[in-house]
Amino acid sequence: MNTIKTGPQARPHKHAPKRGRAHPTQRPQAHGSKKEGTSTQTQSHDGLTFVPLGGLEEIGRNMSVFEYKNEIIIVDMGLQFPEEDTPGIDYIIPNIEGLMEKRSHIKGIIITHGHYDHIGAIPYLIDKLGANIPIYGADLSNEIIKRHQGDFPHAPQLKLVSVKNGDVVKMSEHIEVEFFEITHTIPDSLALVIKTPVGNMAYCTDLKITYDIDGVADPREIKTYTDIGSRGIHTLFLESTGADRAGQSISEELVQQNIDALIAGAKDRIIIGLFASLLTRVSDIINIAEKHGRKVFLSGFSLKTNVQIAQNLGYIKPKKGTLLSIEELHRYKDDKVLILSTGAQGEPNASLMKIVNGIHRQVTIKKGDTIIFSSSVIPGNERPIQSLKDNLTRQGAHVYQTEHLDVHSGGHGPAEDLKTVIGLVAPKFFLPIHGWYFMRAANVRLATQMGIEEKNTLLVDNGQVVHITPKGLSVAKETLPAYYIMVDGLGVGDVEEIVLRDRVALSQEGMIVVFVTLDRRTGSLIKNPDIISRGFIHLRDNKDLIEDMRTKVKKIIGHIPHVHSVESDYLKALLRDQLGSFVYNKTKRRPMILPAIIKV
Ligand SMILES: [Zn+2]
Ligand SMILES: [Zn+2]
Repeated sequence: MNTIKTGPQARPHKHAPKRGRAHPTQRPQAHGSKKEGTSTQTQSHDGLTFVPLGGLEEIGRNMSVFEYKNEIIIVDMGLQFPEEDTPGIDYIIPNIEGLMEKRSHIKGIIITHGHYDHIGAIPYLIDKLGANIPIYGADLSNEIIKRHQGDFPHAPQLKLVSVKNGDVVKMSEHIEVEFFEITHTIPDSLALVIKTPVGNMAYCTDLKITYDIDGVADPREIKTYTDIGSRGIHTLFLESTGADRAGQSISEELVQQNIDALIAGAKDRIIIGLFASLLTRVSDIINIAEKHGRKVFLSGFSLKTNVQIAQNLGYIKPKKGTLLSIEELHRYKDDKVLILSTGAQGEPNASLMKIVNGIHRQVTIKKGDTIIFSSSVIPGNERPIQSLKDNLTRQGAHVYQTEHLDVHSGGHGPAEDLKTVIGLVAPKFFLPIHGWYFMRAANVRLATQMGIEEKNTLLVDNGQVVHITPKGLSVAKETLPAYYIMVDGLGVGDVEEIVLRDRVALSQEGMIVVFVTLDRRTGSLIKNPDIISRGFIHLRDNKDLIEDMRTKVKKIIGHIPHVHSVESDYLKALLRDQLGSFVYNKTKRRPMILPAIIKV
């Protein structure tokens, strides 16, 4: 059997740069076309199977499936934050339809680290797959998972198993996993070596290399990847988020020195905007603040929660009296204050946005404040961040960010970091994960620079099934469904394409359809009105409101004198008006009301 078969969809992209036709924003082709021409046809495959259910045509909703005989292990179960073209959607989660039939074969779920794009879908999916499936994660990841699960009132108790650097866990009869601690922006990040009868698979997602101030890589990290390589790696699954950026990660030591210098030089208050998930950075900043005799105030719910978890586990060790509640802010002089705040991406509801808009309860911008954005700009957020910086500056603050000075080093290593990993792990085969096609194709180029032949690399998309044998990787004919599953409020998957189209058209307000069945002659109701909502509220969770709306509809119709048949258009207008203002009074929202009158 032929071993490596790159999916046909990969070719134009992979060779495109040479022809100068690369399209960074071009999405991979639709599923229908990508299957055509795939020549492999191993129906009865007895090797290892790999299926990415998410994370490969986006940044987010990471979830991978490995299957050997009747043994399945899952790696990560993340969510994706919504995009501009999915209005009103809270999250997008991996599609597990293709797993449902085999769910009794799932032996365990491995979590690489505690970021939401790797853990966030657990509360939505675990029930469907089986709440008693063990989840293996390091302590911090497990704590964050537990906390997140607690936000869902009916979510089941999870079977969390703690793993750490160096552990080897027998997942099932044929699969064993060895865990390696790696560096990312959150402590307790793990890389995996998945040991199977087919070979050892190295799974390295979300990583960076730590460099000292002279740009020399941390010897401990070099050793980690050398150790992974020493297991003899068949395929390296490597993250691609930073693959199209040249160079190596900015030295964390340099970042700390720069932040230290800014804090030392600031006469008044300091506000540092960052992600709540950047726990390693939070810990470093607390140390620097202590050095300069500043108290640290946390602003933002997610930040407080995360810091508390990390503190409980000993990952953040502030001195007594350093971390203070933001309510105590007024008791300290400006030069003793350092505020850590969420919202560096210009998120509308985050703390920094409230501060700049003057609606934060404890903090408003004062002339002379030093504001440091210690986070990278997520593509798409350029404009809100720019206006945030503008507004801060207009109010008299001095704003610093990575473009002036290295005050942030991202969590995803750029090209040189990835090449270091590829070189040390030295796999036979290479399959890039985590990132857009463009980034993954860039990662393949890095692998070829490190001596891996292009025919031994494989670019696949979400839902494609990869057969792995000792001889190599091939794409199977079949695919698993991988289309978006939208989460709206607490409801999963009931928001579909048609609804999305409605939503784009109906802006933010959604709509309500009222089905009224009337007696053709008397105009009286002959059954309870049916109410369907789209893009407005989730029916299951709003039974009372639905019931109130029914009662209201009955009342409206009841008031019409039933001497003769009611004019449909008149009744529609009446329902639209009266039900509309009724709903507005209750919810302060104006969904489109669509009455449907059925006369029988
Ligand atoms: Zn991450
Ligand atoms: Zn990630």
